[in-house]
Amino acid sequence: ARPIVAIVGRPNVGKSTIFNRIIGDKLAIVEDKPGVTRDRLYGNGEWLNTHFSVIDTGGIEIEGEDHILRSVRVQAELAIEEADVIMFMVDAKAGITPADSEVAEILYRAKKPVVVAVNKVDNLQRMDDIYEFYSLGFGEVVGISGAHGTGLGDLLDEVIKHF
Ligand code: GDP
Ligand code: MG
Repeated sequence: ARPIVAIVGRPNVGKSTIFNRIIGDKLAIVEDKPGVTRDRLYGNGEWLNTHFSVIDTGGIEIEGEDHILRSVRVQAELAIEEADVIMFMVDAKAGITPADSEVAEILYRAKKPVVVAVNKVDNLQRMDDIYEFYSLGFGEVVGISGAHGTGLGDLLDEVIKHF
């Protein structure tokens, strides 16, 4: 079976933007089961001849801080169960927020590799903004821009090392 990469993070960090860049037009068809809300999108990705499945976990996004925290917690827990590698996405412009810390707490307990993707690094001056994210305590931290597509190769290099 293909390895599974889950993109996890609070709303608005750019998960769906990166998901779409990774899959191109290779969105997988997911069968709806009765009584099950479709809260995740699956697609197929490829990097350096390595094929993998990728999950955008950001389907449940309800307004209100309590609900957002609850939904990111649920997403992170689902991702931990299913994924071989977790791509933890954060926002360079926003810095570390309480919701990011909430996700990090859950990911610490996972015995799965985590790569931190710092999105919205839209220009090289912003590269300094990635350093604070090392304090989240995960190994690799990679700056990317979903807007421009930069850094995505470096990010996928780190991800596929864990397969
Ligand atoms: P999600 O909620 O985590 O799935 O985030 P989205 O992919 O929906 O993106 C949230 C917002 O951030 C949208 O307005 C995107 O256009 C914007 N966005 C995504 N990537 C970037 C980026 O690299 N730079 C900037 N400046 N904005 C981005
Ligand atoms: Mg989304």
